Amino acid sequence: MRIFCIANQKGGVGKTTTTVNLAAGLAQVGQRVLVVDLDPQGNATMGSGVDKRALALSVYDVLLESASVAEARQRSVADYDVLGANRELAGAEVELVKLERRERRLKLALAAAEADYDFVLIDCPPSLSLLTLNGLCAAHGVVVPMQCEYFALEGLSDLVNTIKQVHANLNPELKLIGLLRVMFDPRITLQQQVAEQLKAHFGDKVFNTVIPRNVRLAEAPSYGQPGVTFDPASKGAQAFVEFAREMVLRVG
Ligand code: ADP
Ligand code: MG
Repeated sequence: MRIFCIANQKGGVGKTTTTVNLAAGLAQVGQRVLVVDLDPQGNATMGSGVDKRALALSVYDVLLESASVAEARQRSVADYDVLGANRELAGAEVELVKLERRERRLKLALAAAEADYDFVLIDCPPSLSLLTLNGLCAAHGVVVPMQCEYFALEGLSDLVNTIKQVHANLNPELKLIGLLRVMFDPRITLQQQVAEQLKAHFGDKVFNTVIPRNVRLAEAPSYGQPGVTFDPASKGAQAFVEFAREMVLRVG
C-alpha cells in the first residue's frame, strides 16, 4: 500500500480535482484505491458521489479513534473507497491538540487497512494545519498540483520546507514525488513558458503528463462524479488516466 498526499497550501489550485480523478484513473487501470478527504469542506467526498451530510461515520471519527477505516469508508461511484469528511472535521483540529500521538492518528488508522489497498490518496486542506500534518505523517510522498502561472512557484518553497521538516522530525519516508501541471491552456504563451521553466528547473520532479483546462472536469462535481467517469472521452479525463499510468510506473 502506497500513501500519497495531494497538497498545496494555495486554495483552488486543483487538489481535489486531482485526488478524485487520479483515484478514478487508478481504479480504471486495476488498482485498489482509498481516498481520504482531510478537508472539512468535503469536496472530495461530494465529488466522489458520497453525500457528506449523510455520513454516519467519517474521517473525523477515525482520527479520534472512535471508528476504524473499515467501519467508516464508503464506496464511490467510480470504483474506489472514500473516507469522507464534512464540517465536523473542522472541530477535530482543536480536539486533536490535547491528545497523544496527535499527528500520527491517520497513519495508525491506515496501517490497519494495509491489506485492502494499493494506493491511498489524501486530499489535504489548503493550510499547513494539524490535519495536513496527519496526512504528511502517514504518507510516503507528496504530489503537488500547480497552475502554470507567474506566481506558481511562490509558496512552493514553504511546502518544500514543510516536507523537509516532516521528513527530518516525524516521517523519514516522506518525499516530494512530483509537481503536476494542471489547468493548462496551451494557447496562453505565459503558461507555456512557465510549464517549460518548471520542467527545466525541477527536471524529473515534474510529471510528464499535463492536465489541460477542461470544462468537463469542472462540471463533473455537480453531477457527483470524477470527470474520469462523468465523461471518459473528454481531454481532461484522458489526461488523468494517463497520469494514473504514470503514477503506477513511477511509484507502483
Ligand atoms: P482545490 O482543491 O485545490 O481547492 P479544486 O480541485 O477544487 O481545487 O479546483 C478549483 C476549481 O477549479 C474547481 O471549480 C474545479 O472544478 C476547477 N478545476 C480544477 N481543475 C480543472 C481543470 N483541469 N479544468 C477546468 N477546471 C478545473
Ligand atoms: Mg479542495
